[in-house]
Amino acid sequence: MISPIINNLIYLLLIILCLCIIIVTVIIFLSRKAIGISKTDKRFMKIAYKEAEMALKAKNGPVGAVLTINDKIIAKAHNQVETSKNYFAHAEILTINKALRKLNIKNFGEIKNKAILYTTYDPCTFCEGFIIWAKVSRIIVGKNEPLVNSIKKDMSHLTYKIRKKGGLYIDIQTKLFKKFLIVNIKK
Ligand SMILES: [Zn+2]
Repeated sequence: MISPIINNLIYLLLIILCLCIIIVTVIIFLSRKAIGISKTDKRFMKIAYKEAEMALKAKNGPVGAVLTINDKIIAKAHNQVETSKNYFAHAEILTINKALRKLNIKNFGEIKNKAILYTTYDPCTFCEGFIIWAKVSRIIVGKNEPLVNSIKKDMSHLTYKIRKKGGLYIDIQTKLFKKFLIVNIKK
């Protein structure tokens, strides 16, 4: 016969176990939701693609970017390497620079709110470094390009982490690049 004290202890342990399971489930659910792509993300990425189209119309490589804070667009820009004859005029660099100037800050770490960068193409090495220095919290990428991408590499040396999610409207970016290549091959 189990004594009432042991019986109560077993009940208590079971309740604690159930609570732990519920807490872990909620944490997993919330973290997945935070990393996933929302309707808002899709809306901003569409705006980034509009920028990419503008870049293409001006005969630049079709890449567009949008930077948001608290779901508000702070800056947007498109690649202007060809028109400005400046190799640093990448969409991501221009967008981040615009946003930093607008907010009059050195990097987004200075403000409490998280900066999200939407870019239609995987950031190149230039932009990647700039994204890290600017302390962007999250990057949503259109077309993932694992060959040139290195942001997925180990970032354990950084004092903060960039969360990255890719693969949004890949077909649009592929079509834009095909158009760009056709125009450039004809030259
Ligand atoms: Zn770049």
